[in-house]
Amino acid sequence: MSKQRVLITGAAGFLGSHLCDRFIQEGYEVIGMDNLLTGSLSNIEHLLPLKEFSFYHHDVSKFIHVPGPLDYILHFASPASPIDYLQLPIQTLKVGSLGTHNCLGLAKAKKARILVASTSEVYGDPLVHPQQEDYWGNVNPVGPRGVYDEAKRFQEAITMAYHNFHGLETRIVRIFNTYGPRMRLNDGRALPTFISQVLKGEDLTVFGDGSQTRSFCYVSDLVEGIFRLLFSNETRPVNIGNPHEISLLAFAKEIIALSGSTSKISFKPLPQDDPKQRQPDISRAKQLLNWAPIIERAEGLALTYSYFKKQLADSIK
Ligand code: NAD
Repeated sequence: MSKQRVLITGAAGFLGSHLCDRFIQEGYEVIGMDNLLTGSLSNIEHLLPLKEFSFYHHDVSKFIHVPGPLDYILHFASPASPIDYLQLPIQTLKVGSLGTHNCLGLAKAKKARILVASTSEVYGDPLVHPQQEDYWGNVNPVGPRGVYDEAKRFQEAITMAYHNFHGLETRIVRIFNTYGPRMRLNDGRALPTFISQVLKGEDLTVFGDGSQTRSFCYVSDLVEGIFRLLFSNETRPVNIGNPHEISLLAFAKEIIALSGSTSKISFKPLPQDDPKQRQPDISRAKQLLNWAPIIERAEGLALTYSYFKKQLADSIK
């Protein structure tokens, strides 16, 4: 019997590349698509020689053609870190809207099931804590982060419309901050920035007083949650993230301790519309997918720290 075929957009990115690995391991044929806007071929280099893997260098905001049958589509293409989407506002809006529309059209044509990568950013600066899927969010559409938040909100809306109107099999995952190997050291997110600063012996930059919170999920836990959601019957959005919340100041201190560095902390003004708190309510995922994260932050951080240390050493060789 021929293998089932999965298209993964954003395949050369952080999460997309881990998803490619997982689907290859599970015995699928994987077609990766990426325009390398924020991703890198080095993330999927190890897959390129495999006959079960093929790669299309393509912008998903343009019409997508994939020959042959497709069973599943995972739409992960999008600039994802604030630095990226602030520099790429139009591409971010296009990939969330036109890119999603193209993926949905392809799923309809191929009778494939599609899972789209949404985000905790749809909750904006939340007025409800922790955030449940039924909370509608507090987003400023014309603020600097609006390009990302609104693109993802549109993505959810059009995905639901294809489900309701065309009967397409759709899944929506709302991803909370995820970390692990293959993130970029300079992507501007708190974790790689802190690690890069300790590795370079610089002070760690904390915005505001550092009391704003984040909840970090290790990548293998996220991939497991996505895998379970894809094969579940749940068409409503599902939060996948780690509810273990920490303030950014405490987090910076953890990274200094982990590295044994003598770096200090320096405080800078809070960026506009920076969310003050972020914590997923994962009751739905627990109940419907029997999923909960299992990697403790100490373990995940140690793995990520060693990855970044090696990356930095390789880059100055
Ligand atoms: P990433 O930047 O590492 O990966 C995104 C990939 O999409 C990159 O390889 C990039 O080149 C590609 N891409 C961007 N625009 C494209 C286009 N028009 N056509 C084809 N490819 C394009 O980011 P990531 O962290 O892996 O995020 C992946 C997805 O998960 C994104 O949709 C993001 O919104 C979502 N997400 C991530 C997180 C997180 O914590 N990492 C949190 C919430 C949501």
